[in-house]
Amino acid sequence: MKGITVLGSTGSIGVNTLDVISRHPDKYGVKALTANTNVDILLEQCVRHMPEFAVMVDENSASLLEKKLKNKAPDITVLSGIDGLLKVAEDDAVDYVMAAIVGAAGLLPTLGAARAGKRVLLANKEALVMSGKLFMDTIQENEAELLPIDSEHNAIFQCMPSDFSKGMDNVGVKKILLTASGGPFRTTPLEQLAAMTPDQACAHPNWVMGRKISVDSATMMNKGLEVIEACWLFHTRPEFIQVVIHPQSVIHSLVEYSDGSVLAQLGNPDMRTPIAYGLAWPERIDAGVERLNLFDIARLDFVKPDEQRFPCLRLAREAMQQGGTSSAILNAANEIAVDEFLHKRLRFTDIARVIETVLEKVAHHEATSLDVILNDDTLAREFARAATIDLAA
Ligand code: NAD
Ligand code: MG
Repeated sequence: MKGITVLGSTGSIGVNTLDVISRHPDKYGVKALTANTNVDILLEQCVRHMPEFAVMVDENSASLLEKKLKNKAPDITVLSGIDGLLKVAEDDAVDYVMAAIVGAAGLLPTLGAARAGKRVLLANKEALVMSGKLFMDTIQENEAELLPIDSEHNAIFQCMPSDFSKGMDNVGVKKILLTASGGPFRTTPLEQLAAMTPDQACAHPNWVMGRKISVDSATMMNKGLEVIEACWLFHTRPEFIQVVIHPQSVIHSLVEYSDGSVLAQLGNPDMRTPIAYGLAWPERIDAGVERLNLFDIARLDFVKPDEQRFPCLRLAREAMQQGGTSSAILNAANEIAVDEFLHKRLRFTDIARVIETVLEKVAHHEATSLDVILNDDTLAREFARAATIDLAA
């Protein structure tokens, strides 16, 4: 029986994780659930899954949850703040940690889980983008296990030889083909992009996801972050990763070998597949996912991404090539720009402008420590807010 902490249990990945877990009560037990402010959903999840701990980052929300749990489930310990998150990421009774908080807020508990030698199921790509080498070193030094949950990286993990940590060159891998749906604006006339609204940007054609990653999919910054994520996970560089637009989202990514073989992982676009894979690895369990019917799909399409339409893709590659804290600066600027866009203070096409300005203005450093990374993250957020105001003027 494996004890599981779900960081960000009220989000899209969190809910899917609990769905898979509840199909296998003999294998997995929920030790802790966490959320930011959504008391009602966390309350309902607590009553259903009876964890030992429930953490709400927001203190008022935590008090409210505690009050509501008093007569429904008084044995659940309610914690708050970042200390609460760290406690349940590192607790001895926890075997696996699903890292599904969105954005930089997930960095510290995800690193905590790695430091405590857990199996880390990594959905929170921003954590790896920010802290790349530090995170990978922490995993290795503490003999933690890292299972990618992002569907593309999960696909690549499935198609790679098991000794891929020796480096792609040494295991006969030529390149990674990272698929992308192209998002909701793949064919929108370029001159209309500036007027796109948050709801239009969040209407993803194939996946139902949180609002931040949905906007990232519309700008394709999501794919940019995923290029960086793949570089760290699979010990490679951006020039060995080709982004392929594949609008059906059936092939989740591919790996090309030196003998000409190309291995792919296919499946219906449903995050429960990579979640179940990460939980059960190296075994396989039922995920509740509808089986793939190739006759229903009938055809699969592939096109090259257009960098004029998707400048964020270029910005992410450049940041990774620059190295050091550049990826953390890119990520922080993106988080602010997306938030400003979701609050209708920034136009869709200005998201990339804000990020480019911040990358020009904020000097990057060697990412030698968490402090250095977090300093540049803070600075980048300040510059991104200023750039937003400038663009609105
Ligand atoms: P979401 O917005 O649906 O959920 C986010 C979760 O994080 C919620 O439980 C929320 O309470 C919590 N949270 C938000 N802000 C927080 C804060 N400041 N402190 C602590 N907790 C906070 O997001 P999602 O779509 O589930 O995505 C989660 C992560 O998984 C993201 O990093 C995303 O890039 C990644 N991911 C998601 C999908 C998907 O299909 N949704 C696919 C691949 C990767
Ligand atoms: Mg993905």
